[in-house]
Amino acid sequence: MSEVVVYSADVIVPVTAPAVRNGAVAVADGRILHLGTRDWVLSVLDGHADVREVHWPGVLLPGLINAHTHLQYTRMASVGLHQYHGFDDWGQAFDAAYSVDGHRWDEAAADGARLSIAAGVTGLADVVTDLPAVSALHDHGLRGVAYWEIYGWANERWRREGLARIEAELDQVPTPPARGVSPHAPYSLDVEPLLDLPDLARRRGARLHIHLGESKLEELNPSAARDDAWRSVDAESYRALRRDGFDASATDFVDQLGVLGPDCHIAHGVYLNAHDRAVLRARMTAVALCPRSNAVIGLDEPPVAAHLREGNLIAVGTDSLASCPSLDLLADVAELHRLAQRQGYSEPDLANRLLRAATLGGAVALGMSTGPDRVGQLQVGSLADLVFVDVPADGVREAIENVVRDGAGRVAATLLGGELAASTPTWAARAGQPEGSA
Ligand SMILES: [Zn+2]
Repeated sequence: MSEVVVYSADVIVPVTAPAVRNGAVAVADGRILHLGTRDWVLSVLDGHADVREVHWPGVLLPGLINAHTHLQYTRMASVGLHQYHGFDDWGQAFDAAYSVDGHRWDEAAADGARLSIAAGVTGLADVVTDLPAVSALHDHGLRGVAYWEIYGWANERWRREGLARIEAELDQVPTPPARGVSPHAPYSLDVEPLLDLPDLARRRGARLHIHLGESKLEELNPSAARDDAWRSVDAESYRALRRDGFDASATDFVDQLGVLGPDCHIAHGVYLNAHDRAVLRARMTAVALCPRSNAVIGLDEPPVAAHLREGNLIAVGTDSLASCPSLDLLADVAELHRLAQRQGYSEPDLANRLLRAATLGGAVALGMSTGPDRVGQLQVGSLADLVFVDVPADGVREAIENVVRDGAGRVAATLLGGELAASTPTWAARAGQPEGSA
């Protein structure tokens, strides 16, 4: 019989079941064997020849899911440390830093993978623009989807060489993780690539991901009546529609082209109105909220309170270090908590729902919430991706509040498939474990 390690903690948050005070998970062969109170788990294992216990005086969570990032920009942190006055202002700084020679996208993406693991992130939606960066998740044993990003294609050139070229590039994305296709945004591609890419992805069983409602260009006049005249226009692009004076919602536009669905999730969702959010719910399309990135770029706040009230599927992303000060997902969770309260969300379930967004919500967004390799939850049979957080855990409610409001920088250890992938001296001292890092 293989070794069983029992990880006990003051509070365990399985996400797909109620939190457990004085709980434990038993791990064998990289998966969860039992989960419950510590006493019960130990009693079930009574008589097993090879059981070892590791006790953590804090909170144990499933590995966090960063539902929107670009790991290859990890060494462009100088861009993300400034404050910008909107998308164009930020875009100029980004383009200037991106276009210098000598980028080592592979090394930058590897740095990003290590920073993610240290922050408790075990699954990611990693949007990749340059092939040298494409193996970061694969190389570090991370879960998630490597999304190949497609940007800046005009119809005519797309018709000549687009599909064949994207197919060939996608073949170079190593698996696991899963492969995905990311048409960049409604305004950065003409109609034909936006029409073809979802079909290409779905033929191959790949996931879809698009930036939507991130640019003010996508904002509609809130007092204008909805007008569907644009639907019968044979436009070459979203930009052309808006230039010609049509008040087309970017969400309706990509929906008409067949981009949305339960196999697609969007990044940002800032400039969405109530109608757009209803479209996303109808398509079962999740949104990865990235509030710190929005703030750095100088955009408006994501309407997190409205997403919560209306029941949209939400996940959390950091975006990249080119627009965010860190890859610490719990810092975005804390920011969403602050924004939701400020936007008037006063239900007592706020912390629970945001922690769910950063775990199970991300797994739903990436299509990884069910099946044998499901993540974002602690369940018997699921992968033992575990995160230990160093916050006071005197009770279940307090523990979850503490993780959500004050968990940034407090991840003490991360396990991937039952193997220690990163840990701090605090973990070594308090759990009686050796230090380690990815
Ligand atoms: Zn992005």
